[in-house]
Amino acid sequence: MYLILGMGRSGQAATIWLQDRNEKVITCDDDPKKGEDSNTIPWDEITAVIQSPGIPYSLPKPHAITAEALSRNIPILSDINLLRQSQDKAAFIGITGTNGKSTTTALIGHILKANKKDVEVGGNIGIPALSLPQLRSSSTYVLELSSYQLEFSSSLNLNIAAWLNISEDHLERHGSMDGYVKAKMRIFEGCQKATIGIDDSYSLKVYEQISKQIQTLSVSVSPLSSSNTSLSSSGLTRGPADIWVSQGTLFDGGSPAIDLNFIPTLKGKHNHQNAAIAYATMRLHGLSTHSIQNAMVTFPGLAHRLEIVSENNNILFVNDSKATNADATAKALDTYQDASIYWIAGGRPKSNGITPLIPYFSKIKHAFLIGEAEADFPKTLDSKASYSKCGDLNTAVERAFDMAQKDNSKQAVILFSPACASFDQFKDFEHRGEVFRNLVRSLL
Ligand code: ADP
Repeated sequence: MYLILGMGRSGQAATIWLQDRNEKVITCDDDPKKGEDSNTIPWDEITAVIQSPGIPYSLPKPHAITAEALSRNIPILSDINLLRQSQDKAAFIGITGTNGKSTTTALIGHILKANKKDVEVGGNIGIPALSLPQLRSSSTYVLELSSYQLEFSSSLNLNIAAWLNISEDHLERHGSMDGYVKAKMRIFEGCQKATIGIDDSYSLKVYEQISKQIQTLSVSVSPLSSSNTSLSSSGLTRGPADIWVSQGTLFDGGSPAIDLNFIPTLKGKHNHQNAAIAYATMRLHGLSTHSIQNAMVTFPGLAHRLEIVSENNNILFVNDSKATNADATAKALDTYQDASIYWIAGGRPKSNGITPLIPYFSKIKHAFLIGEAEADFPKTLDSKASYSKCGDLNTAVERAFDMAQKDNSKQAVILFSPACASFDQFKDFEHRGEVFRNLVRSLL
């Protein structure tokens, strides 16, 4: 009998999936309406616990059911484990990293579909792994994998693991950067080939370790400099990566392969990293440069991430509602630094506010503030960038359009990149982005 711990989307999918296979299941959730009381668990019959990624594995402390299962040596598995074990003929590509997972997962899925491959995309993005259809042996699952999922996903035996980057995140769950990196590194257990972005010191160390064990392509979007070379922990100096991007051109083995500057949905250095990892992964999967390039140019991009909503004369409207913190907004401001930026921001501010954005303030023509951030953001903007308090998104869009229409520069951008959570005025970031889209459409 399987015990499903946590009855969110992945737990519900796992329950249905196991019951369809005539397996006995008991479901548990801290909400008594969603599962059995933990006192009624027939522990002697439980063969494995399928744990939801949202439930702590060890920190801040393990869930009581996890702790009990561990004390009885009952394996804790993820839904990804179950899918992998049941589909030993299909190919599996897993994608992880602190940032860019969804974009890279969607891009890899798009490249495979555009090349007429049988493919299913899911995991942490969109459809839970166990709600994906069964595939034939020549087909491929492309799965976005978070550190929460990987923490208890043992021996996934992926065909290719794609690793983008690591920066500080989720420390409350993993205890330290070491714990976070260790959780993510489970992606390599039993894996055959890997692509690894080597532009941060944590990932470079991971590359040095993994490339000794399996065929690995290194990927870089940072220019080589003495600081890059000193990152190396083993004293090795880092040569050029196998795949790198310089000024928007993707190089493969030293030769220019794809000009990313012409792909509007992959703008910005962060997206160049996503594109280069996707490219390297597809090369390892056996696709030619030509077929990858042809597919990349038709990538529709993901909603709410630097999504181009409309272009009206010289004014570009960009929906970056997914940018719920300053780091994400920094990527957006960096991407459009050559344009006149009319920045719509605000919502419920994060603890570090917009201080990390100060280096970009000189690029901003005017900031239009909304929501609770109207109280905080002016303290950082004052005397460094002009701004006005607009209250709501409707007013902000109207005023930004008004001002941008008077702009004589070659390219003006109305950039909605809030650097805030959405909950003060919207249901979630998707709702916020949809409202922005509709406001823009009603304006033009
Ligand atoms: P994730 O699924 O890891 O959250 P997404 O692809 O949804 O990543 O992108 C979320 C945000 O993260 C984007 O809006 C962008 O600001 C930022 N981002 C995307 N790719 C990268 C990258 N390679 N490096 C750093 N930041 C990135």
